[in-house]
Amino acid sequence: MRRLEAHIRNIPDFPKPGIQFKDITPLVKEPAMLRLAVNQLIYPFLGTDITAVAGMEARGFIFGSLAAWELGVSFVPLRKPGKLPYDVQSLSYDLEYGTASLEIHDDALKQGDRVLLVDDLIATGGTAAASCALIEKLDAEVAACAFVIELDFLKGRDKLEKYNIHSLIHY
Ligand code: AMP
Repeated sequence: MRRLEAHIRNIPDFPKPGIQFKDITPLVKEPAMLRLAVNQLIYPFLGTDITAVAGMEARGFIFGSLAAWELGVSFVPLRKPGKLPYDVQSLSYDLEYGTASLEIHDDALKQGDRVLLVDDLIATGGTAAASCALIEKLDAEVAACAFVIELDFLKGRDKLEKYNIHSLIHY
């Protein structure tokens, strides 16, 4: 989507040398672009049986909670370790830059839930794959994964072969 892409700022060598960081703050600053991005993220899933949107800390919260609002379903936060106060399931994974863990509250989802996973960007796919595994640990089903940006050259899709992937901007 050219209109959205015009509002993504590229920051070379952030947070480490060699990383081309895709900054979504110019996009979310523009009300029309924020609305366009959220509408485009959810349009394939309107009228489907999705029961919840899960979003990853931190930028996944921005798009994920708006997507949940628009779809009229629950929002489930996937958070960095030690942030969620109740009983959690936890998973470690590799990042494009470093390693990380994500946690989900034990009672966030249940069998029968169909979840749309939302994040700002898929790079190597490690974060999304770990998120899908956390959702499945709670016996819920990943209905699809939606991203504003996909870095095609990092082949994150290969880690998510069994899922339906929807991305708006490709690099
Ligand atoms: P990955 O697990 O490699 O797919 O990385 C995806 C996560 O890291 C997402 O939550 C992104 O917000 C963040 N991320 C990774 N690479 C970039 C990048 N080049 N620009 C902006 N965010 C990134």
